[in-house]
Amino acid sequence: MSERLQKVMAHAGVASRRASEKLIETGHVRVNGKVVTTLGTTVADADEIEVDHKPIHRETLVYFLFNKPRGVITSAADEKHRKTVLDYFKHQVSERIYPVGRLDYDTTGALLVTNDGKLDYLLTHPKHEIPKTYLAKVTGIPDATDFQRLQTGVKLDGRHTSAPAEVRLVKKMGADGQNALMELTIHEGRNHEVKKMLQAVGHPVEKLKRTAFAGLKLADLEPGQWRPLNKREVRDLL
Ligand code: URA
Repeated sequence: MSERLQKVMAHAGVASRRASEKLIETGHVRVNGKVVTTLGTTVADADEIEVDHKPIHRETLVYFLFNKPRGVITSAADEKHRKTVLDYFKHQVSERIYPVGRLDYDTTGALLVTNDGKLDYLLTHPKHEIPKTYLAKVTGIPDATDFQRLQTGVKLDGRHTSAPAEVRLVKKMGADGQNALMELTIHEGRNHEVKKMLQAVGHPVEKLKRTAFAGLKLADLEPGQWRPLNKREVRDLL
């Protein structure tokens, strides 16, 4: 993957993007031994960059699939000092990683964690319509009308309507069948979207788990566990 030279420099901690541009324009930067002064220059992962004859340290791009447990927050830091997703990586991964998108505090399941800003953008921008699959335990059993509404789109709040979703009943649950386990695949990622969709059809969510994100399935990853993606998985994402 190629990126603008000043962006790579800024990401490697050389200087801000603006200051990196100055360094480039004033002849301090070499790519593969040659001075580069053009700001539009892009560099690939394998290119060697030097600033004043010192090689810059470029972070390797890393990608992990994490099974977020309940009671863990997705943001990098929390004022209330609650456990964060990054706590699970702390002593084992030295790169500056962060989660792609969010899961609610009480939602479990598939979360991608990386230091690849480009991928983060690709997977979170609404125009890319990345599929996300959830298992939701809901109160009551949705009927055919509820299913149709979920499939075509429901009013989430005053302004927004959900995009079409794939929905199926996995099973009825509870002694008297008073709960349902539903599987939903959505292609957008509004805040609390699945909870709002199911609330809107009168079947509030009691438990929510994301089983797949952008084609990556949780499979047998236990809550709190993570694994690196293999090369093929990364290639398929990009
Ligand atoms: N939708 C929700 O309501 N919550 C999540 O955590 C993810 C999707």
